[in-house]
Amino acid sequence: MNSANISLKPEISSSLDWGKIRADFPILQLKIDGKPLIYLDNAASSQMPQQVIDRLVRYQTTQHANINRAVHYLSEVATLEYHNARCKLQQFINAREDREVIFTSGTTDSINLVMHGYGRKFIKAGDEIILTTLEHHSNIVPWQMLAEEKGAKIRVVPINDKGELEVDKYEKLFNERTKFVGLIHVSNALGTINPIKSMIDFAHRYSVPVLIDGAQAAPHIPIDVQALDCDFYAFSAHKLCGPTGVGILYGKATLLEAMQPFKGGGDMISSVTFEKTTYNTIPHKFEAGTPPIAAAIGFGAAVEYLTAIGIECIAAYEFDLLEYATERLSEMPGVRIIGTAAEKTAVISFTIAGVHPHDVGTILNQDGIAVRTGHHCAQPIMQRFNVPATSRASFAFYNKKSEVDALVAGIKTVQKIFL
Ligand code: PMP
Repeated sequence: MNSANISLKPEISSSLDWGKIRADFPILQLKIDGKPLIYLDNAASSQMPQQVIDRLVRYQTTQHANINRAVHYLSEVATLEYHNARCKLQQFINAREDREVIFTSGTTDSINLVMHGYGRKFIKAGDEIILTTLEHHSNIVPWQMLAEEKGAKIRVVPINDKGELEVDKYEKLFNERTKFVGLIHVSNALGTINPIKSMIDFAHRYSVPVLIDGAQAAPHIPIDVQALDCDFYAFSAHKLCGPTGVGILYGKATLLEAMQPFKGGGDMISSVTFEKTTYNTIPHKFEAGTPPIAAAIGFGAAVEYLTAIGIECIAAYEFDLLEYATERLSEMPGVRIIGTAAEKTAVISFTIAGVHPHDVGTILNQDGIAVRTGHHCAQPIMQRFNVPATSRASFAFYNKKSEVDALVAGIKTVQKIFL
């Protein structure tokens, strides 16, 4: 089940004290109607450790001011800490330069930035954009808007019955009209890890730039944008134990420089007259207005926290949890796992015969178990599997096997009630 393409550190992982790591997360002590919280909705948003909360408190209580615009002490400190956060993100994904990391409000905002900044400038009528069936709506809708505006065409890579991309069909979609590829790294609905490196290399043979939606990959597997050679890479802090309201767009410097700005306003300019405005250098050209300073600093603390544990160790721990959960749920009569790719992160989407997913979620909630039910902002996947919705348990490194057991018991209760 684990991935040959991903470096894991099972030996180091098994020597870590995962119980102590779990204790870093105060919210996990909560009781829901007297029952311990079992939080299995990490693909939607993960929880925040005390270390990140403390960093936010320290910023707000001793370092807060607006950045870039003053010479007073607090503004200088906040400017420096915001810059340090950018450098932490640069290291986290191994970007060549810190100016290749743009703070956005999250993955959705990052993708829209590429659509407006790159797409609206370089995509023309008759051009083709390749997307995949596995995309989250946030990597579909912006490109549809662009295609409509420009008269461009969307081509879609299909998936097989396991929820894996049909890579041979991807390759057949390329022609001289292909001008852009948008590709999800890890599916939020199914957990499939896509073979993005070879897909990026293939696109580059046609000189086509590739945007990777890494929202579900960055929290779980190591990311090296130089090794991947992707042109853009996007993810959100709130799925990486950080705050809401911030994310990044990584872009190769040459591409970012060639792009037009997305939002106009303060800080993104170098000079303004009513006759003409000239723009600031990257990354500032894409960070108009006051950025999410506190959230970006919290994001920096979050990736520092994850790096200290080791993403390879997190991956090894979570793969073990996935294997256990897959085994246990596969044994259950009436339970169908949707998404059985050979390479997956710790996400299990499932249906229970005869029970609507919303009822599954509601009954599990009565046992303190948080799962997500619905289409997971991936309606094309639901259509492909011919289901209106699924229930989804998504795990993090602070989950444990006893919580999988509780999920199994919860599903049995659902079946008792409804069947
Ligand atoms: N892409 C994927 C794969 C996601 O899982 C999500 C969040 N569910 C997004 C994009 C959008 O992220 P955000 O809402 O943080 O912008």
